[in-house]
Amino acid sequence: MADMIKVSKQGNFDELRFLKELSDTLASSISDSQLLINNLKNIFEKYLMVNDFRIFVKDESTSTLRDFVKNWIVITNNRHQESVENIFNKLKNLKDKGFVLNNKLIKYNERFLSATFDNLKSNDNLIYFPVFNENKIIGVIEISFENVENELRSSKFLTTLRIAVSLISTAIVNKILNQKLFVQIKFQNVMRSIAKLIENQFELNYILPIIGELIDGFVTDHLIYIFTKDENNKFKLFWPLDCQDEKVLSLLPKITKNKSHVISKDGKTGLFVLRNEEKITGVIAASSNIDKLSKTDIEYLIQLSAQASVTVQRADSYAQVLRYATLDALTGLNNRRQFEVRLKQEVANAKRNNKPLCCIMLDIDYFKHVNDTWGHSAGDCILKNVAKIVSKELREYDIASRYGGEEFCILLPDTKINEAAFVAQRLRKAVEKADISISEDNISGSDILNVTISVGVSEFENTFETPEKLHQCADIALYEAKHRGRNRVVVYDESLI
Ligand code: GH3
Ligand code: MG
Ligand code: MG
Repeated sequence: MADMIKVSKQGNFDELRFLKELSDTLASSISDSQLLINNLKNIFEKYLMVNDFRIFVKDESTSTLRDFVKNWIVITNNRHQESVENIFNKLKNLKDKGFVLNNKLIKYNERFLSATFDNLKSNDNLIYFPVFNENKIIGVIEISFENVENELRSSKFLTTLRIAVSLISTAIVNKILNQKLFVQIKFQNVMRSIAKLIENQFELNYILPIIGELIDGFVTDHLIYIFTKDENNKFKLFWPLDCQDEKVLSLLPKITKNKSHVISKDGKTGLFVLRNEEKITGVIAASSNIDKLSKTDIEYLIQLSAQASVTVQRADSYAQVLRYATLDALTGLNNRRQFEVRLKQEVANAKRNNKPLCCIMLDIDYFKHVNDTWGHSAGDCILKNVAKIVSKELREYDIASRYGGEEFCILLPDTKINEAAFVAQRLRKAVEKADISISEDNISGSDILNVTISVGVSEFENTFETPEKLHQCADIALYEAKHRGRNRVVVYDESLI
């Protein structure tokens, strides 16, 4: 009760100290909303016997009033929400010329002040002041207090309160502008990061999870999922590993060619299309059980998925160019240039790690005859099939290349010569027993050919002056295999020279 006297007895209310303390608080704690509201509450309690003090701000994208401090959550009590919305609407027309006391609109007109304050109850009085940004109301300050007897009836008190409220309003407006700017900067950073991803990687396995993480970090209230299309043109979850969200899954079939996004009925889930030119290549989903996607969230997500589409599309075409530059078009194996690059790398690796390295050269026997008898396209078919057989017989880290015409070269890291000779025999046998169809649309089974290969094998030795020596030795052994009658494996040794 001692504090009550401070307020209720005229003259004891030190308005200058009150305003000074208030502006100090606004200057020092504006960056932390929770701290700010606590400090404001303390000051209002100390000087004005206020029980509660809250600030609500209109969220532009959802048009609802939200608690400014508690991370903008909607006012939890429905009745309260409705009455605050009503008051907000009442104050809207009043511009900055009044306030609401116990549901009654009061204009700043000194003559009526005393009369209107008859509205004061013995307890639980609610007063609302508008928060203005330029000429537009953007929120309300709610102050609840006990009956402060005569004090509120004094115009001096009211003037002080008006100054206090306008100081708070200005601080809030600044904070909201700052927040908007902060989100905008964060958004631009995410857009830039997505665009820059292709500077060092073209692999979608690498790019898509990073895109997912970037968007997830930006749209914090919603979980993000990325879907891509599988071979059957069906959506398949790509990132993260699991999606139990039924809303997302049931919304996927609603994606159609001419839509950029689809939003669920409850407004809490949205799918945003990834496309390569006209073709839909995937979907970025954002979903929550609690929060609706705001208009601005949706706008951001549309732009983010458009940027992601561009990045994915570029990565795809770069990867394709790169593939063409390193792979042989007919067989899909490494081309000769790539073989030379890999040969250098693998020789360096073998030396550094003191590991064995072997090379297999193989050449199709009497291939000219195949071409001459069955035509070039039959020859191409044989080449493709031999490449397939070879790839199937190798380990994942063996490196197969088409060295030229009908010659293939295989690098076998971490493999000793007797193991390599064993692999070479296996390859030779696999080719020998394969029935190779020489027409793509062969149904009758009549166009089947059998071919054989000759194989040379060599092992890297530290005395080799150049990496190419490894390949030259395998070539010498291959030549010897041809010489000895073909369809056989020869391991290099110095007596062959
Ligand atoms: P050998 O048993 O001594 O290896 O006899 P060969 O006939 O296989 O050897 P040769 O090197 O004389 O002939 C290779 C032939 O391979 C010549 C060329 O017509 C054919 N050839 C090379 N590249 C291709 C290709 O891309 N497609 C087709 N169909 N034939 C090719
Ligand atoms: Mg040949
Ligand atoms: Mg040849």
